[in-house]
Amino acid sequence: MTINVEQLLAKVPTSLLINGQWRDAASGETFDVENPATGEVLATLASANSEDAVAALDAACAVQDEWARTTPRERSNILRRAFELVTERKDEFAALMTLEMGKPLAEAYGEVTYGAEYLRWFSEEAVRDYGRSLPAPEGTLQMVTRRKPVGPCLLITPWNFPLAMATRKVAPAVAAGCTMVLKPAKLTPLTAQYFAQTMIDAGLLEGVLNVVAGKSASAISEPVMADSRLRKVSFTGSTPVGKTLLKAAADNVLRTSMELGGNAPFIVFEDADLDQAVEGAMGAKMRNIGEACTAANRFIVHESVADEFAQKFAAKISELKVGNGMDEGVTCGPLIEKKAQDNVAALVEDAVAKGAKVLVGGSRGEGAGYFYEPTVLTNVSRESRVAQEEIFGPVAPILTFSDEAEAIELANDTEYGLASYVFTENSDRMWRVGDGLEFGLMGFNAGVISNVAAPFGGVKQSGMGREGGAEGIEEYTSLQYIGVRNPYAGA
Ligand code: NAD
Repeated sequence: MTINVEQLLAKVPTSLLINGQWRDAASGETFDVENPATGEVLATLASANSEDAVAALDAACAVQDEWARTTPRERSNILRRAFELVTERKDEFAALMTLEMGKPLAEAYGEVTYGAEYLRWFSEEAVRDYGRSLPAPEGTLQMVTRRKPVGPCLLITPWNFPLAMATRKVAPAVAAGCTMVLKPAKLTPLTAQYFAQTMIDAGLLEGVLNVVAGKSASAISEPVMADSRLRKVSFTGSTPVGKTLLKAAADNVLRTSMELGGNAPFIVFEDADLDQAVEGAMGAKMRNIGEACTAANRFIVHESVADEFAQKFAAKISELKVGNGMDEGVTCGPLIEKKAQDNVAALVEDAVAKGAKVLVGGSRGEGAGYFYEPTVLTNVSRESRVAQEEIFGPVAPILTFSDEAEAIELANDTEYGLASYVFTENSDRMWRVGDGLEFGLMGFNAGVISNVAAPFGGVKQSGMGREGGAEGIEEYTSLQYIGVRNPYAGA
């Protein structure tokens, strides 16, 4: 399918969505969205300020009661229509993501499927809001629980999965009956803008979803979070920003969901099927150019198989083709911006200075885009930055261990606790290591585990709350308990 980029961009709204209307920013200010593969400007968008953000919250609050009274079936039908529309528009969504974020087109199609699945899943969950009913132990009350929408929500999304991170929040909020102010990342707002238009086309009530992209994130989040009408903030992004938002959330005791950074260990035991481990490593490391919170950050490999694993992994990595994700055959796109490219280069330099060897890659790619060559580093010290910080790029550092206890200790030696991966053919070891790992997500002999039906989320400084699965909708509801007097229960 060849996409006419100009015609595609003309379909994407460039203003703010407030109360069902696309309108200009109060200040008249704008910001540019760039293609990271070329440095070219793709579009110029209206930039929301505090006044716009509060207007978006006003709109969300104005329809909250009406929206909460719609039936689960009505909300389910809207989500189902949205799923069908996103699927119909898959070529447009995929191209938009590749253009603004850089991922190879085939991966962008993968994200369209993944992102659309949240709409379908929560269209199904919307009508499955089970409560509990039980007698009080003393027999004096019949006790019933039910769930109510939590109320107006602020949703803040990152740039790395521009569609899926939005649908993973918007779909359960719609299913639960919440209204929203969505603030997409300023680096990749086009997909969210087109998705919001798609939700309107699917029949969403005006004012339920308001979208305010802008140059200054805090100019948008601060007044909205300070407003006592807001009930919840759901954030996906870095841990430092998550901490700032948690502090701000304390003032109004807001409900919070925090999907933060990761530093995933990928442990390969001596009894692993190494070919399977290399295949898993390619998915866990190279998906999304390594720019995923679930990306394998540290390869922790048993010393007896480390050389063989490294050679096989490096051979596969060398087959990747770096370039503009829109081009045929490209399997590794650019990093999101110059700052990200500089950071990855600095991490590799630091590792090499501390004794690491570059097996493959190790430098910036050619061209105007922010390319970095897929890289494998061996002999990496656990003190190097690359082992301690989120890499967010196509760099795979390999560390070694000599026994199971050391592998677990190394894996847990991080403030993060999102994804982890373990490769072993020994099922007893699998459970034992699973007990020892402090991570919210674990892949056993599997390198890609994100799925709409799974409760996604971290522990430690990777955050709190779960998205997807049966748990995802609960994050947008408040539990109400009703105690009904039992007329037959004595005085
Ligand atoms: P980021 O924290 O810089 O930005 C995320 C969002 O927060 C953006 O919309 C940004 O504009 C906004 N933001 C930035 N500063 C803000 C402030 N002071 N107040 C309010 N909002 C603010 O993160 P990023 O660079 O966009 O995304 C990469 C990070 O996201 C990585 O750490 C990655 O691990 C994490 N991530 C986590 C998950 C997960 O589910 N756990 C998923 C994807 C990405």
